[in-house]
Amino acid sequence: LEPKVININHLVRNVEKMLKRLIRENIVLQTCLAEKIGAVKADPTQVEQIIINLLVNARDAVGDGGIITIETGDVYLDESFILENRGAIAGHYVMLAVHDNGVGMSQETKQKIFEPFFTTKSKGSGTGLGLSTVYGIVKQSNGYIQVTSSINAGSSFRVFLPCIDEEN
Ligand code: ADP
Ligand code: MG
Repeated sequence: LEPKVININHLVRNVEKMLKRLIRENIVLQTCLAEKIGAVKADPTQVEQIIINLLVNARDAVGDGGIITIETGDVYLDESFILENRGAIAGHYVMLAVHDNGVGMSQETKQKIFEPFFTTKSKGSGTGLGLSTVYGIVKQSNGYIQVTSSINAGSSFRVFLPCIDEEN
């Protein structure tokens, strides 16, 4: 583990080409990066792993005409977020989101996705470890993850990582 001060926008740009190789030709991968973004202290390889795991899932969820968006944002998580996420700490975060217009998931599936080895994919195509790995990295980084999904419309995974104090 080698935590470094990283700019998530730079990291996304650096891996974009590699990510494009993970998807089929008839899927669009677009990025929507925040103009200004705070710095986070994290292991870049682990943040890359988050992006890759979320992207591969998005790819598996979409068909022809699929659109996957990687979005970054500079956000302040306030009281309303804390109410939805017990124990969360208000403050300045960087958001890293992956949106897709794929199959979506049921409420029942959504409740199990972070469990190790949970998969709805056919034998051999899914290990069920992608999201449990993402969850582990996010927790270790004192971050949060939010999922919204709607059957046959798509899913959004939003990861929030705490910004380091720029004053220091
Ligand atoms: P795997 O991809 O090997 O199945 P993951 O831990 O990455 O394992 O994901 C677990 C499950 O969560 C998937 O099998 C799928 O049911 C669901 N899932 C994850 N991401 C998405 C997504 N973007 N759209 C729909 N379902 C998803
Ligand atoms: Mg996966």
